Amino acid sequence: VTLVVPPTLAASPPPTASSTSSVVIDDIIRGLADTTAGRIRTDADATSRASTDFGTNVTVDAARPAAVFYPSCAADIAALLRASSASVSPFPVSARGCGHSTRGQATAPGGVVIDMPSLGRHATNSSARLAVSVDGRYIDAGGEQLWVDVRHATLAHGLTPRSWTDYLHLTVGGTLSNAGISGQAFRHGPQISNVLELDVVTGTGEMMTCSKSKEADLFDAVLGGLGQFGIITRARIPLVPAPAKARWVRLLYTGAADLTGDQERLIDERGALAGLMDYVEGSVLTDVQGLIGSWRSQPPSSSFYSEADAARIAALAKEAGGVLYCLDGAVYYGGASDTTATDVDKGVEVMLRELRYARGLAFVQDVSYVQFLDRVSTGERRLRDEGLWEVPHPWLSLFLPRSRILDFAAGVFHGVLRRRDGAAVKGGGPVLVYPMNRGKWDGATSAVLPTVGDGQEEEEVFYTVGILRSAVADGDLRRMEEQNAEVARFCEAAGIPCTQYLPYYATPEEWAARHFGPGRWDRFLRRKRKYDPMAILSRGQRIFSYPL
Ligand code: FAD
Repeated sequence: VTLVVPPTLAASPPPTASSTSSVVIDDIIRGLADTTAGRIRTDADATSRASTDFGTNVTVDAARPAAVFYPSCAADIAALLRASSASVSPFPVSARGCGHSTRGQATAPGGVVIDMPSLGRHATNSSARLAVSVDGRYIDAGGEQLWVDVRHATLAHGLTPRSWTDYLHLTVGGTLSNAGISGQAFRHGPQISNVLELDVVTGTGEMMTCSKSKEADLFDAVLGGLGQFGIITRARIPLVPAPAKARWVRLLYTGAADLTGDQERLIDERGALAGLMDYVEGSVLTDVQGLIGSWRSQPPSSSFYSEADAARIAALAKEAGGVLYCLDGAVYYGGASDTTATDVDKGVEVMLRELRYARGLAFVQDVSYVQFLDRVSTGERRLRDEGLWEVPHPWLSLFLPRSRILDFAAGVFHGVLRRRDGAAVKGGGPVLVYPMNRGKWDGATSAVLPTVGDGQEEEEVFYTVGILRSAVADGDLRRMEEQNAEVARFCEAAGIPCTQYLPYYATPEEWAARHFGPGRWDRFLRRKRKYDPMAILSRGQRIFSYPL
């Protein structure tokens, strides 16, 4: 099976809200105790907010829920789910973290959206929603908590999680429902490989605690499970001693082969450069990206580059045909970590000597560990100031096998994304490209990784490519969606197997055939029947409808 992104990526609207909204609300109110029913809002303000997201590609009316639910504890969520299960026609329920999805995944058309941050706001003991055990080296974080707050809480004890996302204003439950990836994943795995235990409310309203040793099937199902099997109300995340600083290295390349070759050397745990970097990412810089092209990875000072550097980079880009590549790496040190500044000096010296970047185009900065983790917020603030944050985001994220990354680069980075047929795309955005080690991912979870050949062969290294664009001018959104579809067509024609990260498909058939493939689909469906037999949860993902 060749798994490809669908050509119809943008074509179909989200599932429509049922016309029986008032029946749904009556059901809810009948099914809930008085105190819990008081936590429901049906006004247009609440339901509008719950029917859009960071993508803002969703038509608000089509995605509008009948109600928004504001729980104070997991038991409130369980009561709501039991009310739906008991109803003659079970209504959809979706957890909404921050709504940072881009295609309506956290919506519940005609049903109920659970406002997850309400758990933190209304908890009787709010500090229990972020409880650090120094002796146990873990944090118990509410599913609604933001990773930025997990960072605050853990660093206060000199501890830190090992695996992060680039952006920290995402909820724990939201990223664990996908995977949670960033430049640390090559070494420590995604966030779903860094969880000790979960509290989950299943689709039938059962409150369960699960881990690798207790209810392991539910634990594995929920991790990367796209909200299909249960709502995460608590995650226990392991911690390690926190460093104080990060040495942040940025290297420029004129070709994809040199970039990816170096990235793979850095992430190879048996190679000569093993252990040199704590963080490895990369990006593509094209001459059509514009201002917002580079918002995502900015140091706290205004730029890595002086004006003279910028002029040299522009000249090199021209020479290289309009496309440059960039490797971002970091080594953490100081604080409670074992690594000293002297270790880092030596490591970076080796790295700068060994790697094949364009000589003279290596940039190094020391920043605090907090500044490094927070690097995307700096860009966010700048975009907000310019009114460029709340715009449509037709993002496309893919996992690709290592053996095809150069074909993909040639066809997409040098081809599809730079074509200026008709009116040029004016917006832009970062294009990320970095490798990960499959061995750090747990095949028992619901996350889907790419395969090659007949769909059975798994290469050890695979790449993530994030085409994370913002549509700022009239017509940008349509043109970007057309380009996304063209990327899919290119992969299909070239036989490049790829899997979407933060996936989006319009029908169950597409999910089964294009995303999961036969064996994995059977497991996903079996788990759905077991934990959410009425298909109540996360219908905005469009994987299942009722009856199953
Ligand atoms: P939502 O969008 O609210 O929900 C996402 C899905 O998860 C929905 O189906 C929802 O129903 C379900 N869900 C939400 N909470 C729960 C819960 N507690 N239990 C069960 N299901 C739940 N991802 C990365 O991996 N790495 C990155 O570096 C990264 N950077 C990003 C930067 C930005 C600016 C944005 C907007 C997104 C980024 N993402 C990244 C994607 C992000 O991980 C997803 O959008 C994710 O869904 C988290 O967003 P959220 O908490 O707002 O979840």
